[in-house]
Order: sequence, then C-alpha cells, then structure tokens
Amino acid sequence: MRVHCLGSCQEVGRSCFLVETDQRTLFDYGLKIYSRQNPKKQNLMPLPYQGDIDAMVLSHAHLDHSGCIPELYTRPPVHWFGTPPTMEIASLLWADSLKIMGEDSPYQEMHVNRAENRYAPLLYEQVLSLGDTDYSLHDAGHILGSAMVKAKHNGKTLLYSGDFKMGDTRMHKGAVPPEEADYLILESTYSNREHPNREELEKKLISTIEETIDLGGTVLLPAFAVGRSQELLSVLHSRLRGIPVFLDGMSKAVTNIYLNNDDYIRDPKSFREAAQETIFADSIRDKKDATAEPSIIVSTAGMMEGGPALRYLQHLNPASRLIFTGYNVEGTNGWRILNQSKALVDGYELEVSVPADYLDFSAHVGHSGLVDFVKKVNPEKIILNHGDDTPGFAQELAGMGFDAVAPKNGDTIDL
Ligand SMILES: [Zn+2]
Ligand SMILES: [Zn+2]
Repeated sequence: MRVHCLGSCQEVGRSCFLVETDQRTLFDYGLKIYSRQNPKKQNLMPLPYQGDIDAMVLSHAHLDHSGCIPELYTRPPVHWFGTPPTMEIASLLWADSLKIMGEDSPYQEMHVNRAENRYAPLLYEQVLSLGDTDYSLHDAGHILGSAMVKAKHNGKTLLYSGDFKMGDTRMHKGAVPPEEADYLILESTYSNREHPNREELEKKLISTIEETIDLGGTVLLPAFAVGRSQELLSVLHSRLRGIPVFLDGMSKAVTNIYLNNDDYIRDPKSFREAAQETIFADSIRDKKDATAEPSIIVSTAGMMEGGPALRYLQHLNPASRLIFTGYNVEGTNGWRILNQSKALVDGYELEVSVPADYLDFSAHVGHSGLVDFVKKVNPEKIILNHGDDTPGFAQELAGMGFDAVAPKNGDTIDL
C-alpha cells in the first residue's frame, strides 16, 4: 500500500488521502474554509493528485472532509461511498456553501448534481470489494452516520479513523476500536488536551441556564449545525422542563435529516421528543418571541461568524448570557466575544456586554482516548493528521514504542 498525503497534515481542514493498492481511492476530499486568521484569505483545497482516481470513500459529512467532493465531478466521474445520512447532510452543506462561496466556489450546481448521482450507499460493517481491495465503514460516534474507513489488501489492513469520539454522548454511542490494524491514519485534534467529564459539563450548562432564566435573561447557544445543535437539544430535553427552546439556522434542516435517519441515533425516542418540544424558528414572529421572553436559543453559526446567532446577539436583554459549546478559532467572532467582549457585525465593531462562557462539548476523542485507541489497534505504523501538533504527538507515541509519523501535505508514504 502507498498513502499520498493530500491534505489535513499538520493542520485541521481539507482532510484528504489517496490510498493506493490495486485501486487508487480517495479517503475524504475536504475543504479548509476561509477564516480571518488564514493568511491566504481563501478556501484551500487538497493538493492535486497527478493520475486517475478509481473511487472515493467519505468518512462523514463535515465540510473539512466533504467540502470539495463536487469539485471531483468537474473531471471524469467516479463513484463515491458513504453512509446514507452522510450523503444527505453533505448534499445540504454543498448547496449551502455554494451559495456562500458564490464565484469563489471550486464547483457549480451541476457538479453537485453529478456528485449526488454518483453516490452509492455503504452501511456500517458492510464490505465493498473494488478489485482486490475490500473497504468497510465502522461507526465513529462523532456525528450522524460518521465512520472509520477500513481498507484490506493482500492480507494487510489500513484503518483511517476520520473524526471520532470514544465515550458515549447523548446522540451517539462512542466508537468501538476495531480489531488490530496494520496501519493507522489517526486524527489528532485533541492530542494535547483532555475533555472535561460529560456529566459534570451537562450539569454546569443546566445550572448556568437556570440562573440566567431566573434573572429574566435569554440564553444564546451558538452551535454548529451538524452534530452539536442536536446534542444540545438532547441534553436540554433530558435535563430541563418548562423553558422554551428555539432552534434556528441550518440546524433546522439538519435536525430533520437526523429524525429521518433515527437508526443512527443512540436513543431515537428521546431525540424525537426533544425535537417535538423545540420551536423551529421560521417566521419573524418566532424570531421575535425568542428574545422577548426568557428562553434558550440554539443557533448557527457556532463561531458567530454569521447566521441568525449574530442577529439574536443584537436583541438580547442585559440579563442574558452566551454559552459557546464548541471550539472558537482565534480571530473569529466567538473568540473575540470570549476574549475581548467585542464582535464584528456587518463590518462594524459591536461591544458585547452580556457575559459569555465556553463549555467544551467536543465530539472528538481527547488525549487519553487517543492513546487507548492506539494501544488497542496496535498498528505497526501510525500516520497522524487532523491536528495542530502532530509532530509533538508522534514523538509522544514513539516514546511508547510506536512507529508514528507526522507527514506534511504532499508527502508519500510506502507501507
Ligand atoms: Zn468532523
Ligand atoms: Zn474534521
């Protein structure tokens, strides 16, 4: 086997590997989305691969893994594989990012249609044989339909972790490490950090919300549309009663996809109830009601870089509170609010006087989970990606006797 590192090496974003056996198969084809601190001020695609591609396998729908797939269909088309909910969510995200990127988009609507037409479903644990290579997907516990990808060829197994979570969340069971693999491509987002205990974190969220509501305020939870919003609805439903919960932004459409694929959810009945109790803020009336009385608003964008969350921010009364539950990249509005009590809205700087907290509800495995995972899989070679300090983590793993490397984009590794 040979692995071509085309993206997400020594960075987070544009995940992409080309795994060469008798087949040349892309594992993910993501986008690194423009943000203010990105010096190139543009979206970044994976590096080009010189040669034909036979197929593509997608681990999950997040844009840093799926965002460039329609661009593949500006060229001779290949089939691509993923779980059905992955396809549904990716499709929704492509249409949305096409609107946002406009002329800067690397693809057009017809390429989105072609990508949709070339999709073939692959279920968890189902084996797909292309030539002499077998591929399979395994639940990664990260978002709806998320998967680790396994490739078997000539008696050797390569496992691509994608993004994964080991412990259970409200929405998903934690990933189960598959039996041993010879080679492991491992995400390392939190290679130098642990996550707080989930139970305590939920309690802290609920007590902060209750205090704010008692004072007559509104709690604004800026949240990513895919995964985090649904997890929050689920936590709120399990632990709170009698406080109106509003949902706004793309999370509404994504939540409907979750409901239509409830066999991919840990507790479908409870999530269905949570969604039924939630007010999907569609009308102007709903949006006004959301800040007119003490309530909870779950809304995109997670880092407050746009979306209805930014509009709600301007209508919060002084007793209100912001609670971020996801990581905020430096330079984004979320980061500014947390560190400088300011936000950029429509080009002007707005002072944010309501208090803001950060609670780490990450859907990624933390440091000790990563190490446990490596020990269980026990690979002869580890390729690290999807992290800001992969060289540091490679060194740590080497200290435990593993052969771990932190390649750069453009490197090729023979296995
Ligand atoms: Zn992800
Ligand atoms: Zn990712």
